[in-house]
Amino acid sequence: MSFNIEEIRKLFPVLHQEVNGKPLVYFDNAATTQKPISVIEALSNYYETDNSNIHRGAHTLADRATRYFENTRKILKDFVNAREEEEIIFTKGTTESINLVASTFGRKYIKAGDEIIISTLEHHSNIVPWQMLCEEKGATLKVIPISDIGEIDLEAYANLLSDKTKLVSIVHVSNALGTINPVKQVIHLAHEKGAKVLLDGAQSTSHLDVDVQELDCDFLAFSAHKLYGPTGLGVLYGKREVLESMPPYQGGGEMIKEVTFAKTTYNEIPFKFEAGTPNIADVIAFGKAIDFIQSVGKDRIKAHEDELLGYASKTFSEIKGFEPVGTAKEKVSVISFNIRGMHPFDVGMMLDANGIAVRTGHHCTQPLMKRFGIEGTVRASFSVYNTKSEIDQMATSLAKIAKIKN
Ligand code: PLP
Repeated sequence: MSFNIEEIRKLFPVLHQEVNGKPLVYFDNAATTQKPISVIEALSNYYETDNSNIHRGAHTLADRATRYFENTRKILKDFVNAREEEEIIFTKGTTESINLVASTFGRKYIKAGDEIIISTLEHHSNIVPWQMLCEEKGATLKVIPISDIGEIDLEAYANLLSDKTKLVSIVHVSNALGTINPVKQVIHLAHEKGAKVLLDGAQSTSHLDVDVQELDCDFLAFSAHKLYGPTGLGVLYGKREVLESMPPYQGGGEMIKEVTFAKTTYNEIPFKFEAGTPNIADVIAFGKAIDFIQSVGKDRIKAHEDELLGYASKTFSEIKGFEPVGTAKEKVSVISFNIRGMHPFDVGMMLDANGIAVRTGHHCTQPLMKRFGIEGTVRASFSVYNTKSEIDQMATSLAKIAKIKN
């Protein structure tokens, strides 16, 4: 597919509606992306023609459902360039992927006195599981500071690393500010100390080419719904040798090799970490979402989003009272800001009255908001189907709103 924005927009039914009497402008893509028709149809097709439980059935439907399901694993292996599809584990989302590592890697490898490093930019999903683990084990959580423009301090990070560091868990792209972290350097420095690295790829996988072999991360966590796929589904990538060394996550069906009342032996990866009937329909539909991304091309999506980011940054900066939060040099298409003298929620409500969907509040990054001494921001995040004329629409509304106090 060539990059024809009108053709792309046609693939997303939800975009073609009015909200509060105005054409919908959907700028809440960092929260969740809209779904192309191929994903929506894959969901209903599955239930209309293929519905069956996978892996254990001898009949045709079970075989078909299993093949479609496992095909998505292959697609995802290629998407992040994992060495093997067994390194792709299906979860409920980024949050569960991180919790899986905290509970199994954490259970085995984190001991009293050990240290785990995160950054100030983290989403709560990459803070709370580590706090819980540290509390349980008597380990310590260390936090990489950031600069006033929202970039991590690499020198401070290098100083935090020590022989006690067992894991660095860091966001690849900040959901609140859009900052792209220099993760290759972060990983390299951690590995020099023998620590493993988990990347929170919830935001990066939709904007950047994320190659796990090139980055050499030990884990990558991401969510389908931020990649034009269904909600409640995610992926944990892990290096084979690390995954194999970890105990299982939940006990139940699929994750066993053999069960007796005396002892249970566990299945091979990835099944060892996939207890119970998985989210079959959504996994199959997720494959269609990745097909969509590949058909447009990651590089073309990125170029389009960068253009929107540049255009919006310039247009919004001309509005009196516009105060950007987080202006890192390397950013994805996220603009976080406040309007001087106004509460972000009020700005969001007034934009919604004009059909413009943005997110307001702390974006599940309360410590980051505290670092900037603010309660929250207004966040506009752009995706493959957004246009410059939508940005103009928002700028016109925003200018009127800002005038109330500026
Ligand atoms: N990490 C980041 C950076 C995110 O943006 C999000 C979602 O907003 C998450 C983690 C959690 O993702 P999920 O709610 O899909 O588990």
